Amino acid sequence: MATSEEIGAVRRVRLLATGGTISMRGEHAAPALGGGDLVAEIPQLAAFGGLAVEDLLELPSAQITLGQALDVARRAVAAAVAGDGVVISIGTDALEELAMLCGLLHGAEAPIVLTGANRTAQAPGADGPANLLDAVAVAGAARAAGLGATVVFGGEVHAASTVRKVDSTGPTAFGSPLTGPIGRVVGGRLWLAAIPRRVPPLTPVSLDHRVQIVTAALGDDGALLRAAAGVADGLVVVAFGAGHLTPGMLEALRDAARRLPVVVTVRPERGAMLRATYGFEGSERDLRASGAVCAPFLSAPAARIALLCCLGAGLDRDGVAAVLAPWDA
Ligand code: ASP
Repeated sequence: MATSEEIGAVRRVRLLATGGTISMRGEHAAPALGGGDLVAEIPQLAAFGGLAVEDLLELPSAQITLGQALDVARRAVAAAVAGDGVVISIGTDALEELAMLCGLLHGAEAPIVLTGANRTAQAPGADGPANLLDAVAVAGAARAAGLGATVVFGGEVHAASTVRKVDSTGPTAFGSPLTGPIGRVVGGRLWLAAIPRRVPPLTPVSLDHRVQIVTAALGDDGALLRAAAGVADGLVVVAFGAGHLTPGMLEALRDAARRLPVVVTVRPERGAMLRATYGFEGSERDLRASGAVCAPFLSAPAARIALLCCLGAGLDRDGVAAVLAPWDA
C-alpha cells in the first residue's frame, strides 16, 4: 500500500457524507451507509492517516433542499478555511449544483472535492470506493492547494463550474463538455493540466429566492416564460444555439428583464453566445440588448445556483452581471 509521502498527501482530509447512490444498498437502493462505513470499506484510505468524518445528510440528492445544500457548502468552506481538505460524498443527480455552490462560496486554499457513485454500494463493479479513494487523494494533495471546488469521478478531475452529469447510469458519469477535465488521478496521485479560474467568494444569507429555468423550444410563444416571470424572483433563460429565442420568447424576455434579474445561457453543452453575427428578430443582439445578464459558459443548473447566491447576497442586476462576467466571452 502506498504511503502518504508516496501519494503526495500534505493535509488532513474531512469527509462530509450526505447520502446518494455511493451510500445506497438494498433491493430498492436506499441510503444505508454513513461516512464511517464508506471509509471502513476502503483499506487503502489508511495511507491518509485519520480521516475526519461527519454525516450531514442521508438523502438521495433529488431530496436535498436549497437550505440543506447551503448548510453543507458552508460546512465544507469552514473546514477548508481551517486547513482541511474536504470531500463531500453526494448523489450524482444534483452534484453539479452543490459543486457550483461550493465553488462560489469557497475562497480558501484547501480544496473541496465532490464525489459519488453511479452504481450502488452492493452492485457488481461499484464505482463508489474508487471514486472516494481518488477524491480523498485530491483533497489531501499538495498540488490541489488553491484549486477551489472540483468533482472527482471516474479517475478524472473536473472544475466545479464546467462539470455536467453526462451519463445517467455508467461509471463515467461526469464530463466537462466545454473544456474537458482539468486533471487525472493516477495511482492515488494528482496530475493537473489546468487550474480553474476562481471568483471572489460570495456570502449569501440564504438561497430562499425563487429562480426558475425556462428553456427555448421550437415555436414557443413565450407563455411559460411570462408565467415564470410572474412568480419568480429571478429567471434563467436557456436560449437556442449561440443565444437565440423565438419572437414570442424574446418579447417575454424583454418584459421579464425590465422587472427581474434574468440570466441567459444556451442549450448546447458546448455553448457560447455571439454578439453581433445575426440580426434577425430574436438573435443574440436582441438578447444582449434586453437587459438580461449573459452567462453562456454556465449550464442552466449552475447559472441558477449562481443567481440564487447573488440574490441571497443582496446583489442587484449590475451586481449579478459583475459576478457572472467570467462566464461570457
Ligand atoms: N442516482 C443518484 C446518485 O447517483 C441518486 C442521487 O442523486 O442521490 O447518487
